[in-house]
Amino acid sequence: MSKSSFERPERIQFEDADYEFSTLAIRAGQQRSDEGEHNDAIYPTSSFVYSSAREAAARFGGEEEGNIYSRFTNPTVQAFERRMAALEDGERAVATSSGMAAILSTCLSLLKQGDHVICSRSVFGSIVSLFDKYLSRTGISVTYVDPTDLDAWSAAITPATRMFFLETPSNPLAELGDIEAVSRLAHDIDALLVVDNCFCTPALQQPLKQGADIVVHSATKYLDGQGRCVGGVVVGRDKEMEEIYGFIRTGGACLSPFNAWVFMKGLETLELRMKAHSANALEMAEWLKQQPGIDKVYYSGLEEHPQHALATKQQRAFGGVLAFEVSGDQEAAWRFIDATKMISITGNLGDVKSTITHPGTTTHGRMSAEAKVEAGIKDNLIRLSVGLESVDDIKRDLQLGLAAI
Ligand SMILES: *Cc1c(COP(=O)(O)O)cnc(C)c1O
Repeated sequence: MSKSSFERPERIQFEDADYEFSTLAIRAGQQRSDEGEHNDAIYPTSSFVYSSAREAAARFGGEEEGNIYSRFTNPTVQAFERRMAALEDGERAVATSSGMAAILSTCLSLLKQGDHVICSRSVFGSIVSLFDKYLSRTGISVTYVDPTDLDAWSAAITPATRMFFLETPSNPLAELGDIEAVSRLAHDIDALLVVDNCFCTPALQQPLKQGADIVVHSATKYLDGQGRCVGGVVVGRDKEMEEIYGFIRTGGACLSPFNAWVFMKGLETLELRMKAHSANALEMAEWLKQQPGIDKVYYSGLEEHPQHALATKQQRAFGGVLAFEVSGDQEAAWRFIDATKMISITGNLGDVKSTITHPGTTTHGRMSAEAKVEAGIKDNLIRLSVGLESVDDIKRDLQLGLAAI
């Protein structure tokens, strides 16, 4: 099948045929080569060849469809994009070199000088740096709001507001934003709602079906799920994706074919993994909450979570990340972390390996003291990304931490 060099394939047969999520995750987007390979092919090539100078000219001129150069046309990357578009139920996806590149590309291609963004305050730390340090230079301003407070979203609207940016559930406190309600606010003023769907993945939450216009991902987390590659992807309508594709093509923050291929292998097991992560995390949250030495557990799967009802409505399960406060100060939290033996001490998450981190001094360490207080990132807070090891072994490891508080 031939493809236009300037336009990536939009729809895949599997989607049109109305297959279920788990089938799409395994089969959507694949285009077999003449070799008849069963698994997805990988094309690790920077450029493509032509049969003649005339053909090269026609491809470059856009008169003839086909591959040109892997910054903007690579069959492996395109297969990953088609699969992600199918899983998020979008018209088209654009892959990027990282999750941050997905967010940067979305902002730079859809916003201009003078535009205003309303962003949930508990977003991934680098997103705050991106807005405050870099996008501010281009004259794009941002207001941060409590994601759970609809009135705050509404009150932050200005005549210049063009984009709402929502990460739900949030990291690390699992606060939820109501996608449908926020999308109504955005659409009332013709603004776009962008949802960072990193924590749930489309296996648990499909924001485009709930009113979001664009979904961004760090594929580095659960889409890979096994801690191997850095990458990202944006999914949405053709109109906005064409802008973002144009920016990536020129700006260069493209995904490598190898990483795209690894992510496709990750997607094959995405639904199974997300169900298992969620089951393990729920069990760990229930267990942690009963342990002496634990003051509070943050997990939307717990009935006492203030947005448990919304989580039940908006998500298919509650995900693999939880946070808890230990009795004591930062020293106690660090002692807890240091006493664990199996769980990896790392800032990454969304891996089959359980990971533990102290947000206040790592992932959220660049926030000011006041901002941390406002966002609820306390000194005694620990984040646990619950992996797929035996929950009994994870409990045994955490027991070492509890004994060290
Ligand atoms: C990790 C992460 C990002 C950034 O992704 P990278 O792949 O590290 O660039 C963005 N949003 C969320 C919610 C994340 O967890």
